[in-house]
Amino acid sequence: MNKAAYYKHSGTVGSTGPILMTVLGILTGLIGGVIYGFAMQYCPLIYLNAIIMIGFGCIVGVATGMGAKKGKVRSNTVVMIFGAITGLIAIYAGWISWIYAFTQQKILIFSPLDIFEVATIIAEKGAWSIKGATPTGVVLMGLWGIELLCVVGAASYIAKNGISQPFCERCDKWVEHEVLLTPLTPILDPGQFIVKLESGDMTPITELVLPPVNSKIYSTVTLEHCDSCTENYFVSATISTITEDKDKKETTNTVEILKRLIITRNQFDEIKSMKLERSDSQPSQP
Ligand SMILES: [Zn+2]
Repeated sequence: MNKAAYYKHSGTVGSTGPILMTVLGILTGLIGGVIYGFAMQYCPLIYLNAIIMIGFGCIVGVATGMGAKKGKVRSNTVVMIFGAITGLIAIYAGWISWIYAFTQQKILIFSPLDIFEVATIIAEKGAWSIKGATPTGVVLMGLWGIELLCVVGAASYIAKNGISQPFCERCDKWVEHEVLLTPLTPILDPGQFIVKLESGDMTPITELVLPPVNSKIYSTVTLEHCDSCTENYFVSATISTITEDKDKKETTNTVEILKRLIITRNQFDEIKSMKLERSDSQPSQP
Protein backbone atom coordinates (compact mmCIF):
# COMPACT_ATOMS: atom_id res chain seq x y z
CA MET A 1 0.00 0.00 0.00
CA ASN A 2 1.32 3.41 -1.01
CA LYS A 3 0.60 5.51 2.11
CA ALA A 4 1.38 8.80 0.36
CA ALA A 5 -1.59 8.19 -1.95
CA TYR A 6 -4.04 8.53 0.93
CA TYR A 7 -5.42 11.46 2.91
CA LYS A 8 -3.71 12.15 6.21
CA HIS A 9 -4.34 14.97 8.71
CA SER A 10 -1.74 17.73 8.35
CA GLY A 11 -0.96 17.79 12.08
CA THR A 12 -1.88 21.48 12.35
CA VAL A 13 -3.69 22.53 15.51
CA GLY A 14 -6.08 25.49 15.19
CA SER A 15 -5.34 28.28 17.69
CA THR A 16 -8.63 27.83 19.59
CA GLY A 17 -8.46 24.00 19.49
CA PRO A 18 -6.70 23.35 22.83
CA ILE A 19 -8.97 25.78 24.69
CA LEU A 20 -12.17 24.38 23.17
CA MET A 21 -11.12 20.77 23.82
CA THR A 22 -10.22 21.61 27.43
CA VAL A 23 -13.34 23.66 28.19
CA LEU A 24 -15.85 21.26 26.60
CA GLY A 25 -14.09 18.13 27.87
CA ILE A 26 -13.65 19.35 31.44
CA LEU A 27 -17.11 20.88 31.68
CA THR A 28 -18.67 17.58 30.57
CA GLY A 29 -16.30 15.66 32.84
CA LEU A 30 -17.22 17.72 35.90
CA ILE A 31 -21.01 17.63 35.38
CA GLY A 32 -20.87 13.98 34.28
CA GLY A 33 -18.52 13.17 37.18
CA VAL A 34 -21.05 14.31 39.78
CA ILE A 35 -23.78 12.14 38.22
CA TYR A 36 -21.31 9.27 37.70
CA GLY A 37 -20.29 9.14 41.37
CA PHE A 38 -23.89 8.84 42.54
CA ALA A 39 -24.80 6.40 39.76
CA MET A 40 -21.91 4.12 40.70
CA GLN A 41 -22.98 4.21 44.34
CA TYR A 42 -26.70 3.66 43.89
CA CYS A 43 -26.84 1.44 40.79
CA PRO A 44 -27.54 -2.08 42.11
CA LEU A 45 -26.29 -3.94 39.04
CA ILE A 46 -22.53 -4.28 38.73
CA TYR A 47 -22.84 -5.03 34.99
CA LEU A 48 -24.76 -1.81 34.49
CA ASN A 49 -21.97 -0.03 36.38
CA ALA A 50 -19.51 -1.25 33.76
CA ILE A 51 -21.70 0.21 31.00
CA ILE A 52 -22.06 3.51 32.89
CA MET A 53 -18.26 3.60 33.31
CA ILE A 54 -17.51 3.15 29.59
CA GLY A 55 -20.40 5.47 28.67
CA PHE A 56 -19.01 8.18 30.95
CA GLY A 57 -15.61 8.00 29.23
CA CYS A 58 -17.27 8.06 25.80
CA ILE A 59 -19.37 11.16 26.61
CA VAL A 60 -16.27 13.04 27.78
CA GLY A 61 -14.52 11.87 24.58
CA VAL A 62 -17.38 13.10 22.40
CA ALA A 63 -17.28 16.53 24.10
CA THR A 64 -13.49 16.78 23.71
CA GLY A 65 -13.81 15.68 20.06
CA MET A 66 -16.44 18.37 19.46
CA GLY A 67 -14.00 20.94 20.81
CA ALA A 68 -11.32 19.54 18.50
CA LYS A 69 -13.54 19.82 15.44
CA LYS A 70 -14.74 23.32 16.30
CA GLY A 71 -11.15 24.35 17.00
CA LYS A 72 -9.91 22.81 13.69
CA VAL A 73 -7.44 20.38 15.25
CA ARG A 74 -5.95 18.17 12.51
CA SER A 75 -3.85 15.86 14.68
CA ASN A 76 -5.16 12.56 16.05
CA THR A 77 -2.30 12.43 18.58
CA VAL A 78 -3.07 15.87 20.02
CA VAL A 79 -6.80 15.07 20.28
CA MET A 80 -6.09 11.71 21.95
CA ILE A 81 -3.80 13.39 24.51
CA PHE A 82 -6.48 15.97 25.30
CA GLY A 83 -9.08 13.17 25.48
CA ALA A 84 -6.91 11.35 28.02
CA ILE A 85 -6.40 14.51 30.11
CA THR A 86 -10.09 15.42 30.19
CA GLY A 87 -10.90 11.75 30.89
CA LEU A 88 -8.53 11.82 33.85
CA ILE A 89 -10.13 14.99 35.24
CA ALA A 90 -13.57 13.43 34.70
CA ILE A 91 -12.77 10.25 36.66
CA TYR A 92 -11.19 12.40 39.37
CA ALA A 93 -14.46 14.35 39.66
CA GLY A 94 -16.29 11.02 39.63
CA TRP A 95 -14.29 9.76 42.61
CA ILE A 96 -14.89 12.96 44.61
CA SER A 97 -18.60 12.52 43.96
CA TRP A 98 -18.55 8.78 44.69
CA ILE A 99 -16.78 9.23 48.06
CA TYR A 100 -19.38 11.87 48.93
CA ALA A 101 -22.21 9.48 47.97
CA PHE A 102 -20.56 6.46 49.61
CA THR A 103 -20.14 8.28 52.93
CA GLN A 104 -23.82 9.37 52.97
CA GLN A 105 -22.83 12.93 52.02
CA LYS A 106 -20.50 13.26 55.00
CA ILE A 107 -17.09 13.45 53.33
CA LEU A 108 -16.42 15.93 50.55
CA ILE A 109 -12.71 16.05 49.75
CA PHE A 110 -10.83 17.41 46.75
CA SER A 111 -7.13 16.84 47.33
CA PRO A 112 -5.60 13.77 45.61
CA LEU A 113 -3.81 12.80 48.84
CA ASP A 114 -7.03 12.95 50.87
CA ILE A 115 -8.85 10.91 48.21
CA PHE A 116 -6.09 8.29 48.25
CA GLU A 117 -6.19 8.13 52.04
CA VAL A 118 -9.99 7.73 52.22
CA ALA A 119 -9.92 5.22 49.34
CA THR A 120 -7.37 3.13 51.26
CA ILE A 121 -9.64 3.11 54.33
CA ILE A 122 -12.71 2.18 52.23
CA ALA A 123 -10.69 -0.55 50.50
CA GLU A 124 -9.95 -2.25 53.85
CA LYS A 125 -13.62 -3.28 54.22
CA GLY A 126 -14.60 -3.18 50.57
CA ALA A 127 -17.20 -1.06 48.82
CA TRP A 128 -19.48 -3.53 47.02
CA SER A 129 -20.10 -7.24 46.51
CA ILE A 130 -20.59 -9.44 43.52
CA LYS A 131 -22.02 -12.96 43.88
CA GLY A 132 -21.30 -12.86 47.62
CA ALA A 133 -17.64 -11.83 47.17
CA THR A 134 -16.42 -8.45 48.40
CA PRO A 135 -13.17 -7.26 46.80
CA THR A 136 -10.93 -5.50 49.33
CA GLY A 137 -7.42 -4.11 49.66
CA VAL A 138 -5.10 -4.45 46.68
CA VAL A 139 -7.77 -6.23 44.61
CA LEU A 140 -10.23 -3.34 44.98
CA MET A 141 -7.46 -0.80 44.37
CA GLY A 142 -6.57 -2.74 41.22
CA LEU A 143 -10.22 -2.62 40.06
CA TRP A 144 -10.24 1.14 40.64
CA GLY A 145 -7.10 1.32 38.53
CA ILE A 146 -8.91 -0.57 35.74
CA GLU A 147 -11.85 1.83 36.11
CA LEU A 148 -9.47 4.76 35.63
CA LEU A 149 -7.91 3.17 32.53
CA CYS A 150 -11.36 2.40 31.04
CA VAL A 151 -12.64 5.96 31.44
CA VAL A 152 -9.39 7.60 30.29
CA GLY A 153 -9.00 5.12 27.42
CA ALA A 154 -12.60 5.53 26.22
CA ALA A 155 -12.36 9.35 26.38
CA SER A 156 -9.07 9.36 24.46
CA TYR A 157 -10.21 6.87 21.82
CA ILE A 158 -13.63 8.44 21.24
CA ALA A 159 -12.24 12.01 21.16
CA LYS A 160 -10.40 11.37 17.90
CA ASN A 161 -13.68 10.36 16.22
CA GLY A 162 -14.56 14.06 16.44
CA ILE A 163 -12.01 14.77 13.72
CA SER A 164 -12.66 11.74 11.54
CA GLN A 165 -13.51 13.90 8.53
CA PRO A 166 -10.81 15.14 6.13
CA PHE A 167 -9.81 18.82 6.26
CA CYS A 168 -9.24 21.16 3.32
CA GLU A 169 -6.13 23.16 4.24
CA ARG A 170 -6.73 25.53 1.32
CA CYS A 171 -10.26 26.54 2.40
CA ASP A 172 -9.51 26.09 6.12
CA LYS A 173 -12.62 23.95 6.68
CA TRP A 174 -13.71 20.37 7.18
CA VAL A 175 -14.71 18.43 4.08
CA GLU A 176 -18.38 17.76 4.65
CA HIS A 177 -19.60 16.77 1.18
CA GLU A 178 -20.10 13.05 0.77
CA VAL A 179 -21.59 10.85 -1.97
CA LEU A 180 -22.50 7.29 -1.03
CA LEU A 181 -22.77 4.59 -3.70
CA THR A 182 -24.40 1.55 -2.12
CA PRO A 183 -25.24 -1.28 -2.35
CA LEU A 184 -22.85 -2.46 -5.09
CA THR A 185 -21.69 -5.94 -6.04
CA PRO A 186 -18.90 -7.19 -3.74
CA ILE A 187 -15.27 -6.38 -4.49
CA LEU A 188 -13.96 -9.84 -5.32
CA ASP A 189 -10.19 -9.29 -5.13
CA PRO A 190 -9.44 -6.46 -2.65
CA GLY A 191 -5.67 -6.71 -3.26
CA GLN A 192 -6.01 -6.20 -7.02
CA PHE A 193 -8.70 -3.56 -6.42
CA ILE A 194 -6.27 -1.46 -4.34
CA VAL A 195 -3.35 -1.88 -6.77
CA LYS A 196 -5.45 -0.76 -9.75
CA LEU A 197 -7.01 2.21 -7.97
CA GLU A 198 -3.66 3.38 -6.60
CA SER A 199 -2.34 3.34 -10.18
CA GLY A 200 -5.16 5.67 -11.22
CA ASP A 201 -7.42 3.07 -12.86
CA MET A 202 -10.97 3.59 -11.55
CA THR A 203 -12.55 0.68 -13.49
CA PRO A 204 -12.60 -1.70 -10.46
CA ILE A 205 -15.21 0.70 -9.07
CA THR A 206 -17.03 1.74 -12.23
CA GLU A 207 -17.45 -1.94 -13.19
CA LEU A 208 -19.40 -2.64 -10.00
CA VAL A 209 -23.16 -2.89 -10.47
CA LEU A 210 -26.19 -3.18 -8.22
CA PRO A 211 -26.14 -6.54 -6.40
CA PRO A 212 -28.99 -9.08 -6.70
CA VAL A 213 -32.05 -8.30 -4.59
CA ASN A 214 -31.63 -9.49 -0.97
CA SER A 215 -27.88 -10.02 -1.47
CA LYS A 216 -26.14 -10.74 1.84
CA ILE A 217 -22.84 -9.26 0.69
CA TYR A 218 -22.29 -5.89 -0.93
CA SER A 219 -19.77 -3.08 -1.37
CA THR A 220 -20.09 0.60 -0.55
CA VAL A 221 -18.09 3.30 -2.30
CA THR A 222 -17.85 6.71 -0.62
CA LEU A 223 -16.76 9.86 -2.43
CA GLU A 224 -15.76 12.98 -0.52
CA HIS A 225 -14.68 16.39 -1.74
CA CYS A 226 -14.35 19.98 -0.61
CA ASP A 227 -17.31 21.86 -2.04
CA SER A 228 -15.53 25.23 -1.83
CA CYS A 229 -12.55 24.50 -4.10
CA THR A 230 -11.38 22.13 -6.83
CA GLU A 231 -8.94 20.29 -4.57
CA ASN A 232 -9.33 17.38 -2.18
CA TYR A 233 -11.19 14.49 -3.81
CA PHE A 234 -11.17 11.16 -2.00
CA VAL A 235 -12.60 7.70 -2.55
CA SER A 236 -13.18 4.99 0.08
CA ALA A 237 -14.60 1.48 -0.18
CA THR A 238 -15.95 -1.14 2.21
CA ILE A 239 -17.43 -4.63 1.95
CA SER A 240 -20.38 -5.51 4.18
CA THR A 241 -21.63 -8.98 5.00
CA ILE A 242 -25.05 -9.58 6.53
CA THR A 243 -25.36 -12.62 8.75
CA GLU A 244 -28.52 -13.96 10.32
CA ASP A 245 -28.69 -15.73 13.68
CA LYS A 246 -31.18 -18.45 14.58
CA ASP A 247 -33.79 -15.83 15.55
CA LYS A 248 -33.45 -14.25 12.08
CA LYS A 249 -31.78 -11.21 13.66
CA GLU A 250 -29.45 -9.64 11.11
CA THR A 251 -25.95 -8.37 11.88
CA THR A 252 -23.90 -6.39 9.37
CA ASN A 253 -20.13 -6.73 9.47
CA THR A 254 -18.24 -4.09 7.49
CA VAL A 255 -14.60 -4.36 6.42
CA GLU A 256 -12.67 -1.35 5.19
CA ILE A 257 -10.88 -1.96 1.88
CA LEU A 258 -9.79 1.53 0.93
CA LYS A 259 -9.80 4.69 3.05
CA ARG A 260 -9.61 8.09 1.39
CA LEU A 261 -7.44 7.43 -1.62
CA ILE A 262 -6.62 10.83 -3.14
CA ILE A 263 -8.11 11.06 -6.64
CA THR A 264 -8.45 13.77 -9.30
CA ARG A 265 -11.60 15.71 -10.05
CA ASN A 266 -12.00 13.75 -13.32
CA GLN A 267 -11.71 10.42 -11.53
CA PHE A 268 -14.21 11.66 -8.97
CA ASP A 269 -16.66 12.60 -11.76
CA GLU A 270 -16.03 9.28 -13.53
CA ILE A 271 -17.07 7.34 -10.41
CA LYS A 272 -19.92 9.66 -9.52
CA SER A 273 -21.49 9.35 -12.97
CA MET A 274 -21.28 5.53 -13.17
CA LYS A 275 -24.45 3.91 -14.36
CA LEU A 276 -25.80 1.39 -11.92
CA GLU A 277 -27.49 -1.65 -13.37
CA ARG A 278 -28.72 -4.65 -11.44
CA SER A 279 -26.68 -7.82 -11.94
CA ASP A 280 -29.77 -10.00 -12.27
CA SER A 281 -33.39 -9.54 -13.14
CA GLN A 282 -35.93 -8.78 -10.42
CA PRO A 283 -37.49 -11.95 -9.03
CA SER A 284 -40.86 -12.48 -10.63
CA GLN A 285 -43.85 -11.89 -8.40
CA PRO A 286 -46.01 -14.97 -7.76
ZN1 LIG B 1 -11.39 23.45 -0.29
